[in-house]
Amino acid sequence: MNDYKDIWIFAEQRNGKLMNVAIEILGEARKLADKKGVNVGAVLIGHNVENLSKDLISFGADIVYVVDNPLLSNYTTEGYAKAISELAKEYKPEVILYGATFIGRDLAPRIASRLMTGLTADCTGLDIDENGLLLQTRPAFGGNLMATIKCPDKRPQMSTVRPGVMKRAIRDDTRDGKVIKFDADINESDIRTKILSIAKEAKNVVNLEEADIIVSGGRGIGGPDGFNIIKELADVLGGVVGASRATVDAGWITSDHQVGQTGKTVRPKLYIACGISGAIQHLAGMSNSGTIVAINKNPDAPIFKFADYGIVGDLFKVIPVLIEEIKKLK
Ligand SMILES: Cc1cc2nc3c(=O)[nH]c(=O)nc-3n(C[C@H](O)[C@H](O)[C@H](O)COP(=O)(O)OP(=O)(O)OC[C@H]3O[C@@H](n4cnc5c(N)ncnc54)[C@H](O)[C@@H]3O)c2cc1C
Repeated sequence: MNDYKDIWIFAEQRNGKLMNVAIEILGEARKLADKKGVNVGAVLIGHNVENLSKDLISFGADIVYVVDNPLLSNYTTEGYAKAISELAKEYKPEVILYGATFIGRDLAPRIASRLMTGLTADCTGLDIDENGLLLQTRPAFGGNLMATIKCPDKRPQMSTVRPGVMKRAIRDDTRDGKVIKFDADINESDIRTKILSIAKEAKNVVNLEEADIIVSGGRGIGGPDGFNIIKELADVLGGVVGASRATVDAGWITSDHQVGQTGKTVRPKLYIACGISGAIQHLAGMSNSGTIVAINKNPDAPIFKFADYGIVGDLFKVIPVLIEEIKKLK
């Protein structure tokens, strides 16, 4: 066990661009590593991606492990799992963090199984205990309570971390770091899936986690048509539409719009909650927003306790006025 040290993150990149969540978990890894007095390693996998090492060092990595191979130019579970497992066997990290993206959620369990270690999925909090163990906090029992999980007997300790929960690392271009190129033994026969072509999903999935402005609708919008006015306000502000779970459960909007504990965790500069009461599970997903504006006809709605600006009134009367005023400012 003592051979294992350092805190690693999987530096997920797509088309040569680092995913936001990689920079978020890098910031978290830096904090944890400083607490333990160890290094932060970033694992960069792909083809012709070494140029991203500099960014990773600026964002807090001490060592960037690069596995560059034409067979890894597109993500495949088997190729990436083999590369990271070999790397981990060689350099023995004590912790590996992954973003809980489609790729991270697919990859991390496969690596856990290859390395015969544990994995805590979808963490919303991480810390180090007095014995140096990773404390991995995540919602349990359908989100009704938070559980903190330890992995005392196996290494590495591994977690996937929800995008949007941790703060992005702050860039410091004066930082120095080391790049280690690792030649993983990957052959065509290791990768049983063949990628014939990549098609972007036709459906327009909303990208709440990256949005600067979110206008969200709750049960107070009265029905699916209520989202028209929410969309109008979002459009005029250049933002996107979010939703409470009540509206998703009612079938008024698709679940990719849901903000909250069982929806997406968001961090926009501006969050406008319209007809949303402010249940704890909704707040769990949006309370880190820069400025929160609430529109609700009930002056006692809990959302007003968390809002920076509150408008008490019928959203169908308030929003059209807002839209008109914003248009005038343009
Ligand atoms: C395990 C678990 C996980 C959950 N996860 C989530 C989650 O991820 N996200 C989430 O949102 N919820 C989640 N919930 C549900 C949560 O507890 C609330 O039920 C939900 O957030 C309520 O949605 P709402 O605010 O839209 O509706 P309500 O609580 O019904 O509130 C509607 C609000 O609209 C106001 N209103 C009504 N008409 C108007 C009008 N014309 N103009 C202005 N205001 C008006 C009312 O005053 C009221 O405050 C979860 C619950 C559980 C148990």
